[in-house]
Parts: sequence; structure tokens; C-alpha cells
Amino acid sequence: MNQRSRAEATAPAQQTTHDPSESQKERTEHAAHSQRAAHRSHSGQAKPPAKPAQAAAQPVQAAVTGRLPLVYVVRQLVVDHWLSKSDADRVLAIGDRERYGHPIAVLAEMNFRTPDAHRRLLDLETLTQWLAEKAGLPYQHIDPLRVDFTRVVDVMSSAYATGYSILPIAVTPAEVVVATCEPFLEEWVREIEQISKKTVKRVVANPVDIARYTTEFYKLAQQVKGASKTGAANPLSNFEQLVELGSKVEANDAHVIHIVDWILQYAFDQRASDIHMEPKRDQGVVRFRIDGVLHQVYQVPPGVMHAMTSRIKLLGRMDVVERRRPQDGRIKTRAGGAGGREVEIRLSTLPTAFGEKLVMRIFDPEVVVRSYAELGFSDGEAKIWSELIRRPSGIVLVTGPTGSGKTTTLYSTLKQLATDEVNVSTVEDPIEMVDGTLNQMQVQPGIELGFADGLRALMRQDPDVIMVGEVRDRETAEMAVQAALTGHLVFSTLHTNDAASSVARLVELGVPRYLVNATLIGVLAQRLVRTLCPSCKAEQSGPDETMWRDLVAPWRSPPPHTVYAPAGCLECRRTGYLGRTGLIELLVMSDAIRVLIGRGCELQELREQAAREGLRSLRVSGAEKVVLGVTTIDEVLRAAPPFAD
Ligand SMILES: [Zn+2]
Repeated sequence: MNQRSRAEATAPAQQTTHDPSESQKERTEHAAHSQRAAHRSHSGQAKPPAKPAQAAAQPVQAAVTGRLPLVYVVRQLVVDHWLSKSDADRVLAIGDRERYGHPIAVLAEMNFRTPDAHRRLLDLETLTQWLAEKAGLPYQHIDPLRVDFTRVVDVMSSAYATGYSILPIAVTPAEVVVATCEPFLEEWVREIEQISKKTVKRVVANPVDIARYTTEFYKLAQQVKGASKTGAANPLSNFEQLVELGSKVEANDAHVIHIVDWILQYAFDQRASDIHMEPKRDQGVVRFRIDGVLHQVYQVPPGVMHAMTSRIKLLGRMDVVERRRPQDGRIKTRAGGAGGREVEIRLSTLPTAFGEKLVMRIFDPEVVVRSYAELGFSDGEAKIWSELIRRPSGIVLVTGPTGSGKTTTLYSTLKQLATDEVNVSTVEDPIEMVDGTLNQMQVQPGIELGFADGLRALMRQDPDVIMVGEVRDRETAEMAVQAALTGHLVFSTLHTNDAASSVARLVELGVPRYLVNATLIGVLAQRLVRTLCPSCKAEQSGPDETMWRDLVAPWRSPPPHTVYAPAGCLECRRTGYLGRTGLIELLVMSDAIRVLIGRGCELQELREQAAREGLRSLRVSGAEKVVLGVTTIDEVLRAAPPFAD
């Protein structure tokens, strides 16, 4: 940097005395110069960030400038009663640790606790919050899902960001939000404001995240830009041609491969159950479903989204060129790279107005197969269910709307039954999770292999336990009944509101009442509710009598004195919820119930008889989980229907 511009940089006020036109010219020159400097700084010559201040000469209360020295941080923590004198002495005795990393990161690794009664752990986030307060700046945890990395990287070069330990995380028309872990290093602010012509808003974020995401964002942005360029280099006007060429060239582009891999790993890390890739008019949108709720993750240029979709279709062995018909596919991959657990991804595409939409459903075997407790069964229910599924023959139904966890329950159940002595066969549409211990058949309507046909073929294969994906029609229902009558245990699903309604549904499908009575042995109705994040859930006083009575009606139980409400922390992505569990309503057929069914009773009569015999409604199952502090009343009311309709 030459003398003139350095002088300008340190004495901006002088500019106001200049002739306006000249001043404008100078500013422009300066901005251009700074931009060059910003991009040149990786050579290490342009304006190195300040050296750490001399620790020994630093009085405790004095304001710091430049990079944070470890000694300053330690002493300030002692002043603020966050660190005991003896712990501080231990750190300082080890000597000058600056070269091993950011002081905050160094201290966080030592797992100190506050000397007061709270014994609060001084972890990375806690120390970062402290630092933010010290610097009088807002604290922010960087959520990579909320950073539009293709935009923020245009604010400054990667070398410039690294040089000052900063990372732009948001850009608006008027403002650039820049995360820093060196809040007393401020010399870059003016430079960036001049280059970007926006106000810089500084926030303090933890040094480990800043370093990690600086590398990731700049690399990913480069990949996206590289991929966009490849697409733009083919100036074909014929759209179809472009698509064909694009699908061949771009899908294997190294940039695209990297972006797709990164998105998949990211989805696994975030416990996403689905990834949606949606083409819009000007942008491709990537969204993750986490605990049942969609979160927008990224926007990428349409060409890049197209290449990503092609890449994924290629991995799923789908017809890459075919874009006008819906297709299905499947990918097996490993979470966390080679050596990680195997994850299955089911793909489906749909032609939409702006291109092909792709949805990936993630089936993580660790998530799919669960223990009964994790599925939401109480000990008593688990015992009844275990007994039911070990009967030699009969029909067991699992019921609930789409997304109520039926598949998880069925796979978890079948996995327990499939042993060396027991043949478990399935007819599914589609096969949601391929499992080595099961014999699974995929329904293929194209060649007239429906549920009923599949089931008929299966019966000749000498199975012990059969799972039929869904009973949708009379033919399938009749086949299931036949299988049960000939000594097989048959599992299937129905879409009904509660357990008792399943009986009515079978009758509607054309199964005579006496055959329902002869074959049906039990029905499990279920729903999923989000579970409260154990790290941040907040105690509250219990609900009022009336509200509670409505929830558990017609059962009676006193309302709990305390319940928990969602708060929000880093672990749960500030939603207050982490994971899901099931609400369970288990109907076991009895003689009394069979008499009622034979008579063609009203649904409510059936429900009440079942309740007398021990059935608890979905809402009661939920209320129990509220009492245990697992979920909230709102979640239960949202998911479960009232007992009487
Ligand atoms: Zn939380």
C-alpha cells in the first residue's frame, strides 16, 4: 500500500476539505485500491493484521486493540469472576499459548468451570458469548444452513477473511454482517464498507466455526461458480438439447460431485429425514425436513440445481435424460464417508413448471429400527405388542396417516421376528428400507404385480410372517384374510384415524364381519410428536384443569403440577425440539369386542369397550408423555384426534 492511500485510510476527515469532485475521485481510487489490497492480501504483503499486544505491558482494565492476547482474556475472566485465580495461574504458567490457536479455543479445550455455585462449563459458545459482551457486540452462532454462501463470499476474498479471522455471513442491500472472533481488530471495517458500499455489522462468533466455515463456504462457492460456468459455456438455444448435454457433462463435473456429497453429508449431520430440491423460476431451492419441519437450506442457480439433480439421478441409476415422467430410484451411501453407517436414500422426481423436482427420503437404519421405548411404547404396551406379534397366525394392523411412523414400527417389529427359523417376507410399495434379514418384493403395477398379486405369489413361497405394505382394495384385503386363515401372521397398514376405525374400514373393503373376527388379532394406531430438547426445555406450571380434562377425556387424571415448554438452543437449532416419538393406541381383540363387531355395533361402542379392557387413546398416550416432560400439550393436540368423533 503506498503512502498516500495509507494516509487517507488513517485520516478520513481530511477528505471533507477537498474539492467535492476531487474527493469523489479519490474515494473511488481508494476503493479500487482497497479492493486490490483485499484480494492481494493472501500474498501476505498487504497490510498484515496487527500483532498481539504485549501481554506483560497490558493493564487488566485497559482496552485492547488488535488481536486478543491469551493473557488479556484470562485476566478479564478472573476480573469478571468467570475463572478462578488458581485456574488462571495454571493457564498462565503454561506460558504463551497464542501460537496454538485463538485464546477462546485454547481455554475451551481446558474445560474450566466458573468458580461460583453454578459451576458453569466454560465451553466454546459460553466463552464466545462472554467475549461478545466484553466487546459490546452481538453474539451469534453461525448456522451454515442460513448462510447464502454464494453471496457472502463476494464481499471479500478468502485470504482476506482468513487474514483478519472474519467471515461475512449475511448480505442485505444496506448491510454486510461479518462474524469475527477478533472483535478488537477493527481496521478492516472501513475498507470493507468502502468496497461494498454497505454498512458493516460485526457480530462475534466462535473461532472454530469461523475457521471451519471460511474454508467450507469459499470452497463450496467456488464449486457452485465452477459448475455455473460449465453450464453457461454451452450457448444452446434448444432447451432439450441443453438438458441432454447438460445431464451428460455437468452431472460428472467435479464441482457438482462435491456439492452433492456435501449436501448429503450435511443432511445426515442435521438428522434430516428428507431433502427437497425444487426448481423455481430464477433459483433452485434446497430444503431439509428436520423433525417434521422444512427448513430452507440453500439457493443455487437453476443450472447448478439441474446438474445436481442429474448427478443424484445418475447415482440412483435412474434415466437421466427422461425428465417429463416421474421416476423412482434408490441410493445406498455411508453417513460420514467410508466406514460410516450405511444409509439408504429413496429418490423420486416430479416434473414441475420450472423443471424436475427431486425429493430424497433418507432412511437411516439407526433411525428406522428403534426399540419399543424409542417408538413411544410404554412398558405395558410393549409387553402386549410383543405377545401379539408372536402369535402363530392372524392379522395385525398398524394405522395412521402418512408420516405417522408406521414404517418404522413395522420394520422394527419385523426385524425382531426374522430369525433363522422364521421366514419373513414382504410386499411393499415402495421398499422403504432394504434389509438383509427380510425377503422383500416391490409392487410393480406396470407388469400387473400389485399387492394382491404379490401376496398370492408370496403364499407359494412358504413364508411364516408376511408384511403387505398397505391394504388398499378388496382383493388385497381378501388375500390377507386368506393368508391369516391358512396359518400365517400378516402385518399391514391402513389409513384410519384410530384403532377402532380399522374394523369399519375392513368391512368397507368387503371383508365380512365374521372373517374380521376370525382373523384380526390387534390394531396399533399411532402418531408422531416432536420431543422436547433435553438441553433447553423450560419448566412451567401445569395446565389448568379444564384444558387437561379436555385432553384426556373421557379418562380422568389430575393435571401435572409442572410441564415443560420448548426454549431453543444450539443443539436443537433453536426450535426447542429434538427428535420425535410415537403416541400409541393399542387395540387387542377380545371375545367381548368380537361380539360387538359381529353385531355390527357403532364405532363409539367399540371404542368404549376397548377402553374398558385397557386401551388408552392416542391423546392419553400423549398426556402421559407430557407428564414425563417428553413433549408438550400443543404437540399432542396437533397430532392426535380426540377419542370420540
Ligand atoms: Zn435445545
